[in-house]
Amino acid sequence: MAFEGLSERLQGTMTKIKGKGKVNEADVKEMMREVRFALIEADVNLKVVKEFVKKVSERAVGEDVMESLTPGQQVVKIVKDELTELMGGEERKIEFSTKQPTVIMMVGLQGAGKTTTTGKLANLLRRKHNRKPLLVAADVYRPAAIQQLETIGKQLSLPVFSKGTELSPVEIARQAIEHAKTEHLDTVIIDTAGRLHVDEALMQELKDIRALKEPDEIFLVVDAMTGQDAVNVAQNFDEAVGISGVVLTKLDGDTRGGAALSIRSVTQKPIKFVGMGEKMDALEAFHPERMASRILGMGDMLSLIEKAQSSVDETKAKELEEKFRTSTFTFDDFLEQMSQVKQMGPLDEILKMLPGANKIKGLENAKVDESQMDRVEAIIYSMTTKEKTTPEIINANRKKRIAKGSGTSIQDVNRLLKQFEDMKKMMKQMSGMTNKKGKKKMGM
Ligand code: GDP
Repeated sequence: MAFEGLSERLQGTMTKIKGKGKVNEADVKEMMREVRFALIEADVNLKVVKEFVKKVSERAVGEDVMESLTPGQQVVKIVKDELTELMGGEERKIEFSTKQPTVIMMVGLQGAGKTTTTGKLANLLRRKHNRKPLLVAADVYRPAAIQQLETIGKQLSLPVFSKGTELSPVEIARQAIEHAKTEHLDTVIIDTAGRLHVDEALMQELKDIRALKEPDEIFLVVDAMTGQDAVNVAQNFDEAVGISGVVLTKLDGDTRGGAALSIRSVTQKPIKFVGMGEKMDALEAFHPERMASRILGMGDMLSLIEKAQSSVDETKAKELEEKFRTSTFTFDDFLEQMSQVKQMGPLDEILKMLPGANKIKGLENAKVDESQMDRVEAIIYSMTTKEKTTPEIINANRKKRIAKGSGTSIQDVNRLLKQFEDMKKMMKQMSGMTNKKGKKKMGM
């Protein structure tokens, strides 16, 4: 997981100071030495480290902290506040234009994740902001990039404006904006060309596209795994083209976190989104405070709740409730439930968002046994339609067939059938309780 080393070190340091009834300047100094070391290890820009240490130290040795009843905790709060501030303070939302369409330019080096992020962003804007995006393939130097965007468009059922490699990127962008207007598509997202290094010709091209219609956002996509390089790239792009925000990709990998902690401070441009995986729904709005909480092991319940909310389909939940009530819950519904849980992401990542999770021994290396879920799925897939709706008919012969078909054992099949039975019984009891309650109310 990203920030692992930093998180561990900072938490160790914070635990030491948190418990102190009294904190003196020497304690703060000692703590800040450790904090400085932790940040440098995490590949945070040196200048940024220095400023951070200075700010925290000044606030921590202030009278109101030293003389407060809980100085240790106050110091931890200061570290958290400053960490939040370092990553940009308040969450910075995406800007939409009042004039249609909103134009978003995606810029960045090759391999940073620009094309993938263009698709993810369109998907997120459609889902969460009700936008109608148009994806624009403007990387005319790499036919593969155009194809990649077309594939993403198909996958997401989103329109892609693509003119092959004949026209100039500026002309493509111009036509795309016109096309969006006539088709009433309110958000144009332009996937511009990437290069291996920052170069003059590319910057000029980006400036020319920019001159067409001042974009509402120019997002620089950078790979968090490249650490300090990401910060340099951001600085170069910002000086040459001017960016409005940063999308930091691959934060699901084990980056030390230096880029996330330095970019804002060095460029003064906010991180607006973070990429958390290769799938099309793995893009999240960046919340500095939640990230600081996560780094310091204070958990990130808010993100967890949002994740659950966005993975649960309301209509399906209602249908399920009805099935619980009428005891018509089948193995197909069971599968549906499992897929909803899976949509929240890898279970071990979810566990890590719980407060104090990093302190639970063994959890850092925990791999939730998702193969168990796969096994259950395989068993259900090996059942006939009739067996799924009326599992009572599953006799010894059928069990044998199901076990064979799913590559599991008869014990596995038995275990699942028992679980399913227990679940149904429990539901019956629960719905019985609500019914009685309902009657009682009516009688009153
Ligand atoms: P581009 O050259 O900048 O357009 O980069 P691509 O969009 O082709 O992405 C390069 C690689 O990075 C692809 O294999 C992507 O799947 C992968 N990638 C992009 N974003 C993320 C992310 O947030 N997490 C992970 N793990 N991989 C990502």
